[in-house]
Amino acid sequence: MGRLKKGSRCSICKAKGEKDKAVVFLPHHRLALCKKHFVEWFEKRVEKTIKEFRMFSKKDKILVAVSGGKDSLALWNALTNLGYEADGFYIDLGIPEYSEDSKNLAISFSEKIRRPLHIVSLKEEIAPIPQIDKATSRPACSACGTVKRYYMNRYAKQLGYNIIATGHNLDDEAAVLFGNTLHWDIDYLKRQYPVLKEENGFIRKVKPLCKITEKESALYAFFNNIEYIEYECPFSEGASSIEYKELLSQLEEKHPGTKLQFYTNFLKKMYPILRQHEEKEKKEIKLCKICGEPSFTDVCSVCKLKEKVKTEV
Ligand code: SF4
Ligand code: ZN
Ligand code: ZN
Repeated sequence: MGRLKKGSRCSICKAKGEKDKAVVFLPHHRLALCKKHFVEWFEKRVEKTIKEFRMFSKKDKILVAVSGGKDSLALWNALTNLGYEADGFYIDLGIPEYSEDSKNLAISFSEKIRRPLHIVSLKEEIAPIPQIDKATSRPACSACGTVKRYYMNRYAKQLGYNIIATGHNLDDEAAVLFGNTLHWDIDYLKRQYPVLKEENGFIRKVKPLCKITEKESALYAFFNNIEYIEYECPFSEGASSIEYKELLSQLEEKHPGTKLQFYTNFLKKMYPILRQHEEKEKKEIKLCKICGEPSFTDVCSVCKLKEKVKTEV
């Protein structure tokens, strides 16, 4: 977020003949806004993204993946204010201190907005993340991502939701895109779209904050008095995505709008080309022999993980 010039007035208030002072400046949109109009701008931008990518409508039942962080809580708040039927889903990963703190914040928020929060405990399903981390050679975040996707999908179906919404923001998406491009990881690039449609037992997954920066979502949370977990998960240390985020933020500082252009031009220009290939080479989806969930192999990765953890105990 750029620096605000002393005495700047809100662009929207000014157009209406009012005199409210701006409290935020969005250089890549060339907008200076007061608190009220920033909150309005944020929610309109989320709504526009939902419509642009045909993510869902007011008839859908949405399950928001809540981590206790600013993005997922900001998303849940915005969807509720926009009139969508959105409930929360929290996976207790069993990470000492971090999971306890984030769970309490998620619970308090659900009480504040009076929407249900479904909680699943990884300790009861498989084992806490620190134990999974010890039992496997994979990095903790990779196993964590797998189990989160699996349980979100499984419980959303069981609980009768047809949409899963996650709080990935523009910084997240641009950093992942940067990493995937750096490695020319075509399989991941093919899936990097803000909507993954429902098929073969997978529920539709959407990212309504994909055009909102991390700073914008932090500010929206702050203006709405949303309490969120302010420290990172201990396992995030050293993740390359953090380095990519820093690099892109340095570029953004010099050339406002870089992240948005990088991401949206990928969606407009590159993604359609990759999709054509995808249609031709579609992999066959089976059902896991153990749990019955969709899988590319006979036994899904979560059932394999369960086995591995069991044998380590
Ligand atoms: Fe899971 Fe890694 Fe995120 Fe921690 S940082 S919540 S281990 S994905
Ligand atoms: Zn204003
Ligand atoms: Zn399985």
